[in-house]
Amino acid sequence: MKFNKFLDDIKVYEAGKPIELVVREFGVNPEDVVKLASNENPIGTSPSVAKVICEHATKAHLYPDDSMFELKSALVKKYDVDESNIIIGAGSDQILEFISRAKLTEGSSVLMSRVTFAMYEIYARQVGAEVIRTPSYEHKVDEFLSAMKEHKPDIVYVCTPNNPTGDATTKEDVLSIIEAALKDTILVVDGSYMEYAVAKDERYRIDPKDTLGFDNVIYLGTFSKAYGLGGMRVGYGIANESVINALYKMRPPFNITSLSLAAAIEACKDDKFIDDSISLHQEQIVRYETFAKENSFE
Ligand SMILES: *Cc1c(COP(=O)(O)O)cnc(C)c1O
Repeated sequence: MKFNKFLDDIKVYEAGKPIELVVREFGVNPEDVVKLASNENPIGTSPSVAKVICEHATKAHLYPDDSMFELKSALVKKYDVDESNIIIGAGSDQILEFISRAKLTEGSSVLMSRVTFAMYEIYARQVGAEVIRTPSYEHKVDEFLSAMKEHKPDIVYVCTPNNPTGDATTKEDVLSIIEAALKDTILVVDGSYMEYAVAKDERYRIDPKDTLGFDNVIYLGTFSKAYGLGGMRVGYGIANESVINALYKMRPPFNITSLSLAAAIEACKDDKFIDDSISLHQEQIVRYETFAKENSFE
């Protein structure tokens, strides 16, 4: 069978190993396994969210609210933006797919850091676009600017903090990249771990409200990490209305299940869970940094 030739260059995304497989392979007790392989939240599921998911179980015969009114309202409150600035995806991953399909075609190019989130490349290759990477592991502004000048990419990805290297980019640096972008280049600021970076240093805070003035920037957030809802698949994009309107044309109807919507809405109310997630992270990052220093890791 012949498939689209772009498929030859695509590696299948390697998901983190599930607990069940670790138990089978190493013969350990499932209770002793903490799954972090896809950067899940080690605290688990917020009890109030679990309760709401159960309560919604009896409404499985109904299609979800496709306007996602309540979840958008919660995000409007969180970010002080307008409902028309928001699109919700089955994970922010789905928004990445919308952006790639809306913007790229054969011969397009995307620019990203040398090591970053694997799906940026996979979605680009699915539509035959070329992938350009800056030389350094960290996001270096001068490298981004010169690559942008040379290649005029259609999409530029800034993942801050970056997965998997953990380097965060200051707001000042992100703005330098945004300001240097051509009008027709979409800048994607992937803030999947923003909550953690901001807790460490305010200079890393990218407020989606601040980038709405640019009509070529989209901020991505997710409920999968600090909010502990990786299994529910809810993420979002915040951008100027013209970008959101274009992405909406790529969206399949009812892309967020009713249980996922209910879970995300409840998660927005559970400040304690977020605070606990961040505090645990703050403690552990010190342990990790000490360990790295003692062992002379770069
Ligand atoms: C986890 C992650 C995502 C996607 O998360 P979803 O679960 O699809 O919302 C996107 N970008 C980065 C950098 C991530 O680490």
